[in-house]
Amino acid sequence: SAKTHGRNRFNYFTPAMQSDAQKRMELVQELKNAIIQQQFELYYQPIVNLTNEKVIKAEALIRWKHPTMGFIPPADFIPIAEETGMIIEIGHWVFNQAVKQSARWTEMFNADIQISINKSPVQFKDETIDVQDWLSQITEHHVNPSRICIEITEDLLLDKEQNVEAKLMAYRDAGLEVSLDDFGTGYSSLSYLRKFNIDYLKIDKSFVNSLMPDSNDLSLCEAIIVMAHKLGMKVIAEGIETEQQRALLEFAGCDYGQGYWFSHALCHEEFEQKYLQQRAEPIQINQFTGR
Ligand code: C2E
Ligand code: MG
Ligand code: MG
Ligand code: MG
Repeated sequence: SAKTHGRNRFNYFTPAMQSDAQKRMELVQELKNAIIQQQFELYYQPIVNLTNEKVIKAEALIRWKHPTMGFIPPADFIPIAEETGMIIEIGHWVFNQAVKQSARWTEMFNADIQISINKSPVQFKDETIDVQDWLSQITEHHVNPSRICIEITEDLLLDKEQNVEAKLMAYRDAGLEVSLDDFGTGYSSLSYLRKFNIDYLKIDKSFVNSLMPDSNDLSLCEAIIVMAHKLGMKVIAEGIETEQQRALLEFAGCDYGQGYWFSHALCHEEFEQKYLQQRAEPIQINQFTGR
């Protein structure tokens, strides 16, 4: 019995843990529903030139609007989607949505804006919906491949089994760009930056949060920027919330920035209203416009 063998052994599942497990199971079920009922929306956060604040990219960020639970942030469901494999289907939806948006922005606004799409390491494990499928969607929607960027994280570069190098190469050969997201928070070593061809380093917002003149975080940002530039990469700072942070990063030579100081992520209508100018006459067939 529980008594004779000691509490810890048999009371392993405490009420708190049961409710956590139950909550999780409910969320998994809700997530399955969300895919079927299309409860997701893609939002877009501008990434700007730090000097003139011209918008050069938009990061696509998923939003889940649950009919009764309200807004559920990605941090609360992306990890579960990854663990259950549902991220494959969700990621496919995100990519399709972003590619259609890119086509629309060229068609309606003649916009020269790249859309940056987060791709989780789990998505690289999928063999059925993979690089070729995504590339054919780009072709199908007549999107210039240089208008699409894939955001990956450092842990992916450590994965020896997924043939990551070849997959990233396939994207870049097709003309897409690659960003290394949340740089500085993972466990990868600098030697990976040599091995993989990466176009942009995104300095994680944890370094930007606490930026002050003469701070260690500023020294760190400066060092990252110098290194990235020497290796032929551009640098994007995430999580800029103040004018001081913007100015310090600009002075440090950082190329681009993203954060609430410039704008939150916006629904596509609001993004278009704020940052894109309607063409006098929308063209019907979208063509490769080049740059
Ligand atoms: P991330 O890719 O690093 O995206 C940047 C996150 O920082 C976004 O959070 C954005 O809203 C937030 N952010 C932007 N500016 C600021 C700022 O000035 N201050 C602060 N505190 N935060 C700022 P969000 O949208 O909640 O997304 C969180 C994470 O969820 C993303 O981090 C990404 O890892 C993941 N995620 C979001 N959308 C997708 C998606 O479509 N697919 C995948 N696989 N992951 C996604
Ligand atoms: Mg990202
Ligand atoms: Mg990030
Ligand atoms: Mg992040």
